[in-house]
Amino acid sequence: MFQSLRIQVIQPCRARCKWCGTYKKNNLFQQLIDQGVADDVHEFYLQAVKEFKPESLYISGGEPILMKGIGKYIKKLSEHVSRRIFLFTSFQFSALTRDELDLDEMPWDKVILTHTTAGFDRDIWDDMTQGFPFELYIDNIKKLSALPWRKQIKFILNHENLKKELEDFASLIRPDSTFHLSLKLMNNQAGNFGAHEIKKTRENVLELLENGIPDFPKELEIETKITGEEAISGFIRGDNGESCPYRNDSLELRFAFHRGDSKSAKLQYRFCPHFPPSKHFIFKTNRDSIEDIRKSWEEKKWHSWCSKCRLRLYV
Ligand code: SF4
Repeated sequence: MFQSLRIQVIQPCRARCKWCGTYKKNNLFQQLIDQGVADDVHEFYLQAVKEFKPESLYISGGEPILMKGIGKYIKKLSEHVSRRIFLFTSFQFSALTRDELDLDEMPWDKVILTHTTAGFDRDIWDDMTQGFPFELYIDNIKKLSALPWRKQIKFILNHENLKKELEDFASLIRPDSTFHLSLKLMNNQAGNFGAHEIKKTRENVLELLENGIPDFPKELEIETKITGEEAISGFIRGDNGESCPYRNDSLELRFAFHRGDSKSAKLQYRFCPHFPPSKHFIFKTNRDSIEDIRKSWEEKKWHSWCSKCRLRLYV
């Protein structure tokens, strides 16, 4: 039913990115692993993927690539995903960790190693990652990119030196045709949108919609379509979200761990990436049925959340 599913694997992350609150859950994630709750949640994700048979699956964390048995787990998931699996990574871990990843049975042809750069510029990088060594980051990208999966790298549209970041990426990584480069509006998972950040993003979005982005480095091919572009255009026309593809088709079901114990873990779920952080449904593993998710999409009560759509900030 859903074209894509997004799951949050319970696995601590070694990165300390400034905009992200997920690493603050590392102790909790470790407890959930020790108590066996993580296994229940991962098993539930497998059931959901079996049920909805999406075209695409997005796997975030934490840092899912560090999970023991990640290759085997993705192999099981891949049997119910028709096209591709996006595996997110921060590339922020030691060389030793990188060389010992548990990638046995990884279905290489279906997996796209996916990364949003905090800033491909040493100064921004140091600030955004709170000091993770830039050389090790580059080395991790190169070594992991040499494995036989495709790669997707996203750059942040509202960075003032985006063009320079792309030039540096081209010269340091030398991406071949197995890389796909694209743009993302901004990186702010904690939802603390500052006025300057919104203004800058808004200007860049409007420019992108009107003229595309000129002057990208010639040696790079970059997809300039951004998620939510149609909804933004609709808001500009004053349609109040009526033409948004997420409202009209079951494009996405996304899960994130909320809280819970060994009896019942609670997962948040929602049908689009742009609802405000407070808007979601709760699914309790071992209690609720997958059918409830289908019903809550069909009842369309969630359409009322579109009045607080985060994309309205850019219009
Ligand atoms: S909040 Fe509503 S209008 Fe905005 S992207 Fe999501 S479904 Fe579309």
